Amino acid sequence: MGIKLVRTCVLWVGLVICSASAAPLRASGTEPVLHHSEVVFMYAASDEAYRAYNATFVAWGGAESAEQVKRHHDLGVRCTGSMWCLTAGAENLHKDPKLLAACAVDIEGNPVEVPWLFDHTYQGTKSYFGCTNNPEFQKLCRERVRQALAGKADGLHVDDHLGTAGAAWWQGGGFCDYCMKGFREYLKSHATKEQLQQAGVEQIDDFDYRTLVRKHATTRQEYKKVQYKIPLMDLFLEFQAEAAAEHTRQLGQLAAEVAGHPVLLSANAGLPNKTHTYVVKYLTHVICEVGQNAPAGTKQIDHAIEAYELAATLGKPLAATASGQDWAFVKQNNGEELVRFWVALAYAYGQRFMVPHPQRQWCFSNELGTHWYAAPIEAYAPMYRFIRENAGCLDGFEAVDVKDHKPGAPANVLVTVRRKSGSNQVVLHVLNRDYDPQAKSMKSLSNVEVSLDKALFSPTKPTATLLSYDKPARQVDLVQNAETLSVRIPELRLWTLVLLE
Ligand SMILES: [Zn+2]
Repeated sequence: MGIKLVRTCVLWVGLVICSASAAPLRASGTEPVLHHSEVVFMYAASDEAYRAYNATFVAWGGAESAEQVKRHHDLGVRCTGSMWCLTAGAENLHKDPKLLAACAVDIEGNPVEVPWLFDHTYQGTKSYFGCTNNPEFQKLCRERVRQALAGKADGLHVDDHLGTAGAAWWQGGGFCDYCMKGFREYLKSHATKEQLQQAGVEQIDDFDYRTLVRKHATTRQEYKKVQYKIPLMDLFLEFQAEAAAEHTRQLGQLAAEVAGHPVLLSANAGLPNKTHTYVVKYLTHVICEVGQNAPAGTKQIDHAIEAYELAATLGKPLAATASGQDWAFVKQNNGEELVRFWVALAYAYGQRFMVPHPQRQWCFSNELGTHWYAAPIEAYAPMYRFIRENAGCLDGFEAVDVKDHKPGAPANVLVTVRRKSGSNQVVLHVLNRDYDPQAKSMKSLSNVEVSLDKALFSPTKPTATLLSYDKPARQVDLVQNAETLSVRIPELRLWTLVLLE
């Protein structure tokens, strides 16, 4: 199932504003995609919550059965099944010797435990990383996909998609026979003669990377100290990341077969981290946490912007949530305005910020560990309804490269410029980042002048329409001189869209 966008025009206070309505239909033969204007829930929620937010998609599972899928479709919401590639689980490992033999292993041949699952044990057996290069663990992952898509959901979400690559990059794993065989094949097609010579590889056909590694380290402890000095390590890590990406691609293919239709395929690929970039080419979209540095107010948002821009560069839509620490800060400090800023920031950069969950938004702090934030619907739903009502000002627009033509705006104001391909429409996203931590809100700014280089845009009718979620739309004059055009926003509260055409 997908979304068919029906373009309509809504008359609102005498202005014509592009809009779109969603119906859970998919034209035959089209690949499902995540649109810019989607309103994404991370996990399933109540019918009332979906309606309040005008939800279009549930990203991280919760619709594994036919009944659950039907409930979502009846509400016009696309939905997903979810599975993970991290571990077979302590109990399965304890009971099934074949699965225990299919774990990621270190240079000593010992299975590698998942550090953050230290308390998930079964009769003394730990939660070890499954090896996503081992056919036995792959079989288990494929079984999980069949369960996740049993209800023929619209998409598959793959959690912990890195599998063995995660164990190899950070935990000293990736050294089972299957990994060695895979790496040997990878070297044949990816290593230069010089690289092989420098590493002392004479016969690639019987090359075993473990022999080379043991010249530098024979225990996991030693290995972790010298890992990055070992020859061919860059290629080894790259191989593991590419192999995990291919594994995810194959799971997506299986999901489509089980569902009987093309599916959305996502992974929790934590951009901008490099290890997580390899899989992105195989996904329809990315679902992940993007840290917002909540204690710094709106001052340290570079990391979030980097993640949003990287997703755009990689050509895949992203739906983000904040980190557990961010949410813990919001809960403790009543930081609703900060959350609204994060929502605006993500959409301003062409991405999406997932709806703060009305019951269970995950929070984490050192003092309280895991706890939950019940995000009040009335605090956030108006923004998301605004996004749906103005889908026509979001969908089909792309970021304009403003490197040499930075828009003019006051220091506390952030502006992104997005142009609709094949039309003479530009939307400026104007964000107030003048956050007052005492008042826990933005300081409203008066008469904010934003100017744009005419090299970027020349209007056909010199008008500007201001759109914001908390006030009716209004038209303002567009002032032109030889090189620039400028628009004055009488009151910038949090986020104003300026539609130029
Ligand atoms: Zn392996």
